Order: sequence, then structure tokens, then C-alpha cells
Amino acid sequence: MIRPILLWPDPALSQKCAPVADIDDEVRTLCDDLLETMYDAPGRGLAAPQIGVLARVFVMDTKWKEGARDPRVFINPKITQPSKARQTGPEGCLSIPDVTADIERAEAITLSWTALDGSTHVERLAGFDAICAQHEFDHLEGIVTFDRLPSHQRQSLEASYFA
Ligand SMILES: [Zn+2]
Repeated sequence: MIRPILLWPDPALSQKCAPVADIDDEVRTLCDDLLETMYDAPGRGLAAPQIGVLARVFVMDTKWKEGARDPRVFINPKITQPSKARQTGPEGCLSIPDVTADIERAEAITLSWTALDGSTHVERLAGFDAICAQHEFDHLEGIVTFDRLPSHQRQSLEASYFA
């Protein structure tokens, strides 16, 4: 089911999300809804709090706009081993429409997570995949792109967002 995407500054977007204890029907439905809502938006990543569910789940499909769909679900994700190398790129957010912010991130990270079937995975991500995963992971911590900006940049982008 396509769910409404909450828009910043909805308070749900500033809360730390709780770990998923059991992968039950509720979690399976959540993941289906996240993917359907992401593709409909259209976007390349979506986190549970963006549809008002404060659980540590996000979905990603970074290349579907250029080819076939590869829907991926990340439950209780963890980020480790951020590279010293940094990259800065323009990021949009489905919860902050029409705003693009240049955010500095690690160029590569190691992402570990649980999949819908309960199996655990570890993968080294680089480039845009690493940016997308760090952006979605931030949502689970209650952090949006604005929170990553120096205050003067944040002020001018917020002003344009609210204008
Ligand atoms: Zn976002």
C-alpha cells in the first residue's frame, strides 16, 4: 500500500527509531509499503519514520531508474568502518521536497543488516550506494539533511523550503 510520506518538520522525522525485535507480518507489510511508496514517489531510498513508523528499517534501490528494479530491505542496519576519504554530493529527500543539499559523507562504509528472511548480511558500499545508505540510516537516528549542514547553509535552505 502506498503510504503518505511525512514532510519535515514532522516530529516523527526527528526521533530515534527502535530496533525490530521480530520479523512478523507487521514488519513484512511495512517493508512492502516502504518499497511501494518509494517507487511511487519516485525515490531511491525510504526509511520507516518517513511513513510514520519509528522502527529501524529502510529500503533502497539505487539503480532502478536506469534499469530493472532491485528492491532491497535493510532491517536493524549498522554502519561501521567509514572510510577516511570523504565525498560531498547533492542529496534530495522525499520528506523535504524540492530541496537539494550538499552533504559531506564517508566515501565508503560497511553496512550490516538483517533481511526479511531473518538472514544477516554484511556488504562494503561505496559511491552513491554509500551516500544513500548513510542518508537512510540518518533517518533512523532522527537526522535529516538539514541537520548535517553548517548553520548558515541550513538557514538559507530552510528559508527557501518554508518560502
Ligand atoms: Zn531522506
